[in-house]
Amino acid sequence: MKNIFDFTLDDLTVFMVEHGFSQFSAKQVFDWVYKKTNFNIDEWTNISKKCREFLKESIEFYLPKVIWDALSKDGTRKFLVQMKDNHTVETVVIASRDRLTQCISSQVGCAIGCTFCHTGTQGFTRHLTAGEIAGQYMAITLWLRNNVHPDERMSNIVFMGQGEPLHNYENVKKATTNFLNDRAFGLSQRKVTLSTSGLVPKIKMLHDFPPVNIAISLHSAIDDNRTELMPINKVYDLKRLFEAIKEIPLKAHRRITYEYLLIDSFNDRKEDIEALSNLLKIKESKINLIPFNEYPGSKYKKPSAKKVLWFMDQMCQRGYTCTVRATKGDDILAACGQLKTQYEQLNTWDNQIEVSRV
Ligand code: SAH
Ligand code: SF4
Repeated sequence: MKNIFDFTLDDLTVFMVEHGFSQFSAKQVFDWVYKKTNFNIDEWTNISKKCREFLKESIEFYLPKVIWDALSKDGTRKFLVQMKDNHTVETVVIASRDRLTQCISSQVGCAIGCTFCHTGTQGFTRHLTAGEIAGQYMAITLWLRNNVHPDERMSNIVFMGQGEPLHNYENVKKATTNFLNDRAFGLSQRKVTLSTSGLVPKIKMLHDFPPVNIAISLHSAIDDNRTELMPINKVYDLKRLFEAIKEIPLKAHRRITYEYLLIDSFNDRKEDIEALSNLLKIKESKINLIPFNEYPGSKYKKPSAKKVLWFMDQMCQRGYTCTVRATKGDDILAACGQLKTQYEQLNTWDNQIEVSRV
């Protein structure tokens, strides 16, 4: 049986027409599912009985199940969601000023194996389906409505949970299509961000992807050092990466975000600043500095707050738009790179680490 959350509106239209129903019936189904969040087909009374019987026989409404949740002192919520085959992934909801951002996972584990990343250390298990990716947003929306406030709504999505989204290109594309479709989740393009470690062949396919914000995990502008952090740089080095980035279609006023993890005495030195400013074009780039999040067994260290501010200041002086990502949800190991599917371990870590902000 097909999962409703695997269908884009176009897919469902084709499916309904193939089975002898009208194009309009697909829109009606989408309205019940996404606008009214009513998954009880018997109550879809504006749809013919025959059509409802067909839907009952051919479509299921499977959403990932929230099996664990934790609330950090700074308001970050972390969830462990379980798929049908019992695999789990984490998803995090981060509150900041007027935004409520969901950090979504695209795979169980990750094949890229970055040496600084908690997820990277668990290897790759499988891709998530489009329905499991979009289903994280629906499942958490419903959870927040039931447990926080009936009007609670997440405004932004970042593909910065577990997995490399471009490695799972087709499913991430389908889920993103539903995130942006007004008949489905209806988020604005500017509120969805895809982050990639630099999978060059897939970056070259972004002209065929819904026009969301793109973030590139750069982390070093020096090839040898980037390779040490990200094995993908052996194949897709900085030269190939930036040739591909040039091809990303950007609407006039938009820029690429470069995520730059700051690791103590590794990539936070003067020569790193020089290399970074030689590599990035000021007008086309935004830099997001991310102080390294330490986790049990991590081999790198977080730089001091003073060092982080110095690095940012140096880039600002050179004309770059530069922000520092506040470390959110540290006390529940929900911060970036700390997502690892072992919730027994997470439970024991709960409350042990103070939330730190840079
Ligand atoms: N795989 C994609 C998206 C998920 S990772 C990518 O790598 O871009 C999301 C972000 O978390 C990336 O910028 C990644 O570099 C960052 N991250 C991973 N491990 C981290 C750690 N230990 N501390 C801080 N950020 C980390
Ligand atoms: Fe995968 Fe991103 Fe972690 Fe690298 S940083 S191992 S690409 S999830």
